[in-house]
Amino acid sequence: MKKAMTITYEYEGALYVNLTNRCDCACVFCLRHNGHDGSIYADDLWLEHEPSREEALESFFTWGDLTKYREIVFCGFGEPSYRMDDICWLIDQLHAKVPGLPPTRINTNGHANLINGRDVTPDLHGRMDTVSISLNGADEEEYLAVTRPQSGKAGWDAMLDFTRKAAAQVPHVVMTIVDKDKTPEDIEKCRALAESLGATLRVRAYIPD
Ligand code: SF4
Repeated sequence: MKKAMTITYEYEGALYVNLTNRCDCACVFCLRHNGHDGSIYADDLWLEHEPSREEALESFFTWGDLTKYREIVFCGFGEPSYRMDDICWLIDQLHAKVPGLPPTRINTNGHANLINGRDVTPDLHGRMDTVSISLNGADEEEYLAVTRPQSGKAGWDAMLDFTRKAAAQVPHVVMTIVDKDKTPEDIEKCRALAESLGATLRVRAYIPD
């Protein structure tokens, strides 16, 4: 079930939050520029305006009892960390208003510190249960080819540094890759990299259009 100007939506038992369409990457597979008819990520996740924090909070409560969800996931049809301050405010509001709030997660490209111009990971402490970072490549070269960050190599370095810092603040830090075009050796390289940063690797199955 979805609602017009989709700020929050249900997906597989979790409540997803879409606060921005901005992103500093241009991933080759990104649905923002590829389109994806019939997907939950189709046109209705294009925001006609970025919702204010108050608008977003109101959207949460249109779903009734929030404790029914297994997780609250800040993802966006874009990079959610552009709204990091608002996300922190929202989580504080939700904690104050909803006893037994489900665990929280942010799905990010790992550029939050670059985007915000400061280390935001201490803000995640006590607010975010899981940080899920798109790794997308077994090494810098593949990462840059796939994600095409505006900042180039600095984007790779920032993503690694953010992962390491987040792992010191948040209970669960996960790096994700899609199994398509990955050899077992690639996957092991990604796993070793993730673990060296204090994260765990999650390999997602590729779902063709
Ligand atoms: S980081 Fe996410 S939103 Fe940004 S271009 Fe890549 S897939 Fe799209």
